[in-house]
Amino acid sequence: SAAPRRDFIREMVAEDVATGRFGRGPATRFPPEPNGFLHMGHAKSICLNFGIAQEFGGTCNLRFDDTNPATEDVRYVESIQRDVQWLGFQWDGLYYASDYFEQLYDIAESLVLKGKAYVDDQNEEQIRTNRGTVTSAGTPSPWRDRSADENLDLLRRMKAGEFPDGAKVLRAKIDMAHPNMIMRDPLLLRIRHAHHYRRGNDWCIYPLYDFAHGLSDAIEGITRSLCTLEFKDAREIYDWLVAEAGFTNPPTQIEFARLELDYTILSKRKLLRLVNDGHVSGWDDPRMPTIAGLRRRGVRPEAIRAFAEVIGVARKDARVEIATFEHAVRNDLNMEVPRVLCVLNPLKVVLTNYPEGQVEMLDAPSYPHDVPKTGSRSMPFSRELYVDRDDFMEDAPKKFYRLSPGREVRLRFGYLITCNEVIKNDAGEVIELRCTYDPDTRSGNAPDGRKVQGTIHWVSAAQALSCEVRLYDRLFSQPNPDDVPEGQDFLSALNPASLVVIPDARIEPSVANDPIGSRYQFERTGYFMSEPESSTPEKLVFNRIVGLRDSWAK
Ligand code: ATP
Ligand code: MG
Ligand code: MG
Repeated sequence: SAAPRRDFIREMVAEDVATGRFGRGPATRFPPEPNGFLHMGHAKSICLNFGIAQEFGGTCNLRFDDTNPATEDVRYVESIQRDVQWLGFQWDGLYYASDYFEQLYDIAESLVLKGKAYVDDQNEEQIRTNRGTVTSAGTPSPWRDRSADENLDLLRRMKAGEFPDGAKVLRAKIDMAHPNMIMRDPLLLRIRHAHHYRRGNDWCIYPLYDFAHGLSDAIEGITRSLCTLEFKDAREIYDWLVAEAGFTNPPTQIEFARLELDYTILSKRKLLRLVNDGHVSGWDDPRMPTIAGLRRRGVRPEAIRAFAEVIGVARKDARVEIATFEHAVRNDLNMEVPRVLCVLNPLKVVLTNYPEGQVEMLDAPSYPHDVPKTGSRSMPFSRELYVDRDDFMEDAPKKFYRLSPGREVRLRFGYLITCNEVIKNDAGEVIELRCTYDPDTRSGNAPDGRKVQGTIHWVSAAQALSCEVRLYDRLFSQPNPDDVPEGQDFLSALNPASLVVIPDARIEPSVANDPIGSRYQFERTGYFMSEPESSTPEKLVFNRIVGLRDSWAK
């Protein structure tokens, strides 16, 4: 069999292995900041980092990039661990950047002693202004030439908590005219007298992302640091810092395209806003593109992993169509889940020639022929049934192969029935159909060979279970929710109909004894899961995971 096609990152890792470049197996890490729940973009990164470790016999760490006391929380740390494991991965090392604060501080002192870092008294606003522009050199800070002794003394006093927030920062001393703006004496440490969820109040000089990130990789012995494209310009400071800190054979950064998915938003900051402003029920709302939301909706981890594989990794950003994801979800469920009949919008059918009080059991295979699984259940059939309102039309066009006065239709797994009479209430709404069934058509076929095109789903009224069905649609009504007119933001692109609740659908009774959390295909309707958070033994609540692309015999 042919070797699978390798993306450019796996090519590089394969070469590392072949040349023995790092003198050890590939070591990757997934480094989330615990300031929100993981989303599908993170899933892409998880599948990439953990996938490479698995494929090449290497290791992958989970490292919390927890260097910002203002936004981080242990609740997010816990959700991230759960989500990584649910996706099917297990980390080798579990680390926290906040455990490296002392080591990073020691590196800061060594940079100061080498004349490669200095304490600046300018505020962050002045520093930004004095950085210059891409076409003009920056203005050196008046504090840039402090002696190593003075810098060391100030740095120690910063650490000891002698100065208020913003009074001083530690900066690398590189080049204020560097063509890469990031290299114009970047900030390394800043003062924050704040409570950190892990460090409490014991620490007050927080490393900036660039200072913490590469050095954390180096401390853990990472070989390739995989990150998204927006960090391309940061690669130079990454290399400068690990080299100045004295790491031999240090990790190197490789950038890949961020996942952007149509009709949704992949940014923790914006997702947090949806949660905080009450646009969704929480981080795990089934409409959210979070791992927790997808899990609650009923998506299986296999589908998310398959999706990550299909989209692959590229060097250029590109939006991915939501259809690509839905295809992966359907593909996964199609081969796995049993079929059942559920009527979302019930309309009563009375079979006038069927004996009152009689119930017969019809055998119904649970899987179609092209799914290699076996199993069946019995469906009660009786004089009173429910069919879906959408399968009836009073004045139907010729090609409406469903129920209409005078027309004959096949009931899935059962008889042919003919609609004879339409019963309406005082308001003129159809409330019942009177039909007759042909007792000789239990096989679904007429012995006289007459053709019946349409097949519809149904349930037996007395035995069917009432259930709630939640139909989820895309959370935003336009492909790029950020693409809104001046003065508006992504919230104005929210889809007002992203959730439709059907309080009283009717489902066949065979599901009654299945564990809550079971998944099904409701034939002709979509894939559904009974939701553990909301279902009770008395009343099941089903989430629509994804609709069907095609429905049979419509
Ligand atoms: P967000 O903007 O949603 O907060 P982030 O990049 O700041 O995302 P982190 O927690 O820092 O979130 O991300 C952890 C890892 O996940 C990083 O390596 C990051 O590159 C990766 N990642 C985050 N979002 C995406 C995405 N949309 N596509 C691919 N990888 C992503
Ligand atoms: Mg980040
Ligand atoms: Mg972020």
